[in-house]
Amino acid sequence: MRGAMTSPYPLEPDATEMRRLVDEAMTRIVHHIETLPDQPAQNVEGATEFARTLVEPLPRKGEKYETLLDQLFDELIPRSFNAAGPGYLAYIPGGGIFHSAVADLISDAVNRYVGVCAAAPALAQIEANVVRWFCEIVGYRGVGGRGSGAGGDETIPSPPTPGGVLTPGGSLANFIAIATARKNVLGDDFQRATLYCSDQIHHSFQKAASLAGFPAANIREVGVDGKFCIRTDALEEAIGRDRSAGFTPFLIAGSAGTTATGAVDDLPRLASIARANKMWFHVDGAYGALFALTARGAATLRGMEQADSIILDPHKTLFLPFGTGAVLVRDAMTLRRAHSSHADYLPAMQSDEELVDFCEISPELSRDFRGLRVWLPLKMFGVEPFSQQLDEKLDLIAFATAELRKIEGIEIVAEPQLTITAFRLVVPGLSDTELEDLNRDLLDRINARQRVMLTPTILDGRFVIRICIVSHRTHRGRVQMAIDDIRAAVAEVRRDVRNSAVPNSDGVRNSP
Ligand SMILES: *Cc1c(COP(=O)(O)O)cnc(C)c1O
Repeated sequence: MRGAMTSPYPLEPDATEMRRLVDEAMTRIVHHIETLPDQPAQNVEGATEFARTLVEPLPRKGEKYETLLDQLFDELIPRSFNAAGPGYLAYIPGGGIFHSAVADLISDAVNRYVGVCAAAPALAQIEANVVRWFCEIVGYRGVGGRGSGAGGDETIPSPPTPGGVLTPGGSLANFIAIATARKNVLGDDFQRATLYCSDQIHHSFQKAASLAGFPAANIREVGVDGKFCIRTDALEEAIGRDRSAGFTPFLIAGSAGTTATGAVDDLPRLASIARANKMWFHVDGAYGALFALTARGAATLRGMEQADSIILDPHKTLFLPFGTGAVLVRDAMTLRRAHSSHADYLPAMQSDEELVDFCEISPELSRDFRGLRVWLPLKMFGVEPFSQQLDEKLDLIAFATAELRKIEGIEIVAEPQLTITAFRLVVPGLSDTELEDLNRDLLDRINARQRVMLTPTILDGRFVIRICIVSHRTHRGRVQMAIDDIRAAVAEVRRDVRNSAVPNSDGVRNSP
C-alpha cells in the first residue's frame, strides 16, 4: 500500500487514499448533519475575534488531514449562523440538500468542462435540461417536448423559445438579466434610460443596474401600498413624467416575493404597463418564483410568465446548497445577442437551437458543472417532494401567524403572501424610539435561546421582526419552538416595561 506521505505525487492520491479522504470527511459530515436539530441556531459570540486569530502566512509544509478536519468541524464550522439547521428562520433560509453535496463531489471529481457544448455535450445537455425545467416551472411557453414551438403552420410566426442559464446566485442573475435587456433594447446609448422598481425590491437590483452602467439617478424607486406591493398608479405617473422630461423609460422590475415581507407585486398589471410602454419586464423571483411548484404559489405568482426575464434562486426555495441561481428569459435569443463573442482558440460553437454553449449566453467561460447539483436530486425524486416541502412551508407560516396573533401585544405588520410574516410588539404609550428599543430587546431575547434565529427589518419606519420559513429541515415542531420562545420573550419584555413604568411604593422606579 502506498501511504499518503511516501507518494512522490501527493496531488494524485491512490484508491486507498481517495477512500480515506472521503471516509474521514464523511464520518464528520454525517455526525454534523445528524446533530443539526440540537445545534444552536446561531453561535457567533466572539466569532469575529476568533477569526482574526486565524490569519496566517502561506503554508510551506503540510499538516495532518485529520487534524485539519477536526479544526474545521470543531472550531470553524460551529462559530456561525447555522444556515443549514431547522431553526434558521432568518433572512431567506436555504438548507442545503445532501444529494446536491454528493453531486458536487462527483462533478468536481470528474471535472469536465461544460462551458462549451463540444467539450462535454451530454453533460451540457443535462444542465440545459435543468434550465428547461425551470422555464416550465415559471410557466414559460414553448418548453416541454423536444422541438415544441418549431414547425407547424408557416403563416404564424413561431413563438420565441425560452432559455436561461444557471448562475452562482440571484445577484449575478439580476446582473445578467439587466445587461441582456440593455443590449437588446437600448444598444450603446443608454444614459437617458430609466428603470423602475418598488422601494421594497432587493438591493441587488440597484447594484446590478449600476454595474450594467446605468446612472444611479435613473433608477426610480416607486412607493408601495399597504401590502408592500408596488403602487402601479404611481409607477405609470413616473413613467409618463420621465417620458415628458426626455428620458427613455426602459425596464420595469417586479418583485415575485420581496425579501422583507414576501410581497408579490401585481405582475399582470406590471406586464401590461410594460407592454403599453414598450418596456422590458423583469421579475425578481429569487425567493418567490419556485413557489409556482405549489397550487397556492402559482395563483399568487400569476403573470410572472409574461416577464421578459425572471431570476430565481434554487439555493433558497429549492433547498440547494449556496451557489445556485438562475436567470430565465422568454426569448433565448436575447441572451445570445447580449453575450455571444468569438475566439479563434475555442472549439466550434453549436449552430442549432437544441444544443447550447453556456459561454455564448452568459458572462462566464470556465466554470463548475453546476447543473448536476440540481439534476441529481430532481431525477432521483421527481419534483413532487419539492412541491410538498414548499406547500408545508405555506402551511407553517399560516400556523405561525395565527399563533402570533394569540400573543398579547403582537401586531402583524405584514401578512404572509408566501412564507414570510413580519411582526412587532406594541405597548401602548411608548414612543416610536421606545418601541424600536423594545423590539430590539425582544429579538435579542428570542435569539438568545438559540433554538431559532430571526432577523429584523424596517417597514414604514417601524422596526419589525421577520419569520421566514423555507428550509427543508424546518417542520411543525421547530415552528412551535419559535412561537414558544417568542411568547416567553414577550412575557419577559412586558414584565420589564411594567417594572420600569410603574413606580413602587417609594415612588422610585425599579431597575429592570
Ligand atoms: C436573495 C435575493 C436576491 C439575491 O440573490 P443572491 O442569491 O443572494 O445573490 C435577489 N432578490 C431577492 C428577492 C432575494 O431574496
